Amino acid sequence: MHCRTGFDLFYPSLLALTSFLANQLSLLAAEELVPTVSLAVKTVGSWRVVESSNFRCSCQLPEPDASRLAEFCEIWRCRLRKTWITDASDENWQPKCEVCVHSHREAYNDALRRPGDVSVGSTSMNFDQGRMVFRRIDVRADAGDWSNAALPHELTHVVLGERFGGHALPRWADEGIAMLSESVEKQRERLVNLRQNLSRGLAMPMAELVRTNRLPAQQFRDAFYGQSVALTSCLIQKSTPAEFADFLDDLQRLDLDEALKQRYQLNGLAALQTDWDRWTRQPLTVEFVNLPLHKGITPILAAANDQ
Ligand SMILES: [Zn+2]
Repeated sequence: MHCRTGFDLFYPSLLALTSFLANQLSLLAAEELVPTVSLAVKTVGSWRVVESSNFRCSCQLPEPDASRLAEFCEIWRCRLRKTWITDASDENWQPKCEVCVHSHREAYNDALRRPGDVSVGSTSMNFDQGRMVFRRIDVRADAGDWSNAALPHELTHVVLGERFGGHALPRWADEGIAMLSESVEKQRERLVNLRQNLSRGLAMPMAELVRTNRLPAQQFRDAFYGQSVALTSCLIQKSTPAEFADFLDDLQRLDLDEALKQRYQLNGLAALQTDWDRWTRQPLTVEFVNLPLHKGITPILAAANDQ
């Protein structure tokens, strides 16, 4: 691990921190290839700013720990790209991904210029001829479990942006994949909500779900999210995450009926609805697919509270 000493003056506990990170990385390296994290740390006004190979993380002081955040993001980037991009290059992201952690909702809403917004995380990306020329994540540190639910969710959107070169994905699939990166607790919450909706017969018809391009109104949003991650799970369980990503590629040139036929041997949307009905007939047996993305990653908040 390398630290640029010019920035060390701004961060008195950097030595302790680098030793912690080296320890964390060596533990993870035992089970997978993890990126080398070079850190540059500085303080800008009320922000701690840390740059690693692929991220520029800014945290509103006093918490959380921006260096730990950068390492956390690098590990997630590595895992997500391994899961969703089978031919990922070794090149670092240029430009880096900005990650801004706001201390409270008002600061988050001000930064996004979205007064009244109640979301916890948000991703912005710009593309030029399929190449990502801007990527930025904003999250709220005052939201419970932000580092294990909202942040991995938003990082997944960025990796999907890279995978699909800025082509718009169906909303249900984009959100469905992102929710599979959320913490077990968050997914459990979504599953309970979905099962309740299924039990009450409140599920959206498949034709409506797959054609929804904008997030529905707030009161229908939980239902949309739950069904999206369930449908994504249903299709991934038929094959693999990589195959599901290829199916989304197919949708760039084929209509849904044809893509379902070619990739999943399903006779169009009607057959998908039948499959879905069979799968959800007993709501309590519905489960989301388990992608072991969190395994071995130390949550930022839990670790930061140890100090
Ligand atoms: Zn999302």
